[in-house]
Amino acid sequence: MAPDATKILLVEDEKPIRDAVAAYLEREAYWVRGVGDGQSAIEEFERHSFDLVILDLMLPKLSGERVCRAIRDTSDVPIIMLTAKGEVEDRIIGLELGADDYLIKPFSPRELVARVRALLRRARTETDQAIETLDFGDLVIDISGHRVMVHGEEIDLTASEFKLLTTLARYPGRVYTRMELVEKVLGYDFEGYERTIDSHVKNLRAKLGDDPRNPRWLFTVHGVGYRFDASDKSEEDSGDSK
Ligand code: CA
Repeated sequence: MAPDATKILLVEDEKPIRDAVAAYLEREAYWVRGVGDGQSAIEEFERHSFDLVILDLMLPKLSGERVCRAIRDTSDVPIIMLTAKGEVEDRIIGLELGADDYLIKPFSPRELVARVRALLRRARTETDQAIETLDFGDLVIDISGHRVMVHGEEIDLTASEFKLLTTLARYPGRVYTRMELVEKVLGYDFEGYERTIDSHVKNLRAKLGDDPRNPRWLFTVHGVGYRFDASDKSEEDSGDSK
């Protein structure tokens, strides 16, 4: 998988449809993970950071409706619902559950690819507009400008360090496993690269001036990974308090 490949989770129990759709998407350079039931869909979704989900409504083990609801509990990833003819009511339910778009079977793979492209474009624009700057006082991350300021001074980060910092800082308090960070920051999804994250964190801490024994921003969660927190210690620690 290319580091920047857009990842799509394809949930469809009819294997011929699944294979055909996957082949089409892969030809467009998307990275596709295909699964055939609702339970596997949720497991796969938790394992990778997908950019888009294509979800059949009628599925064994767990319905598409349940899967959609489970995904929406934690994520606003774009979801395209697939429904068979005659499931019109279900289709409306799908949209009410938070799917972004739907296609009625039989559909042309070309139509699906067009919808995928449109949704991804929309999602990207929304994300970019939603968060431009993360401001934590002493630490300001200008996402669109690709700049980081510590105590008002710009520091120089590599692309990976910047990606790592923004990934963590977008969700203060959320714990990321090393594997998740490997995938989000480096784009690989196999083991062995987890230690790479440790060295990126080490470098990032050095550049931020963040002491691992008394962290200000980057916290180690032992046995798991890392989290970002903007603990407001600036007043007590700054020394110039009256
Ligand atoms: Ca089905």
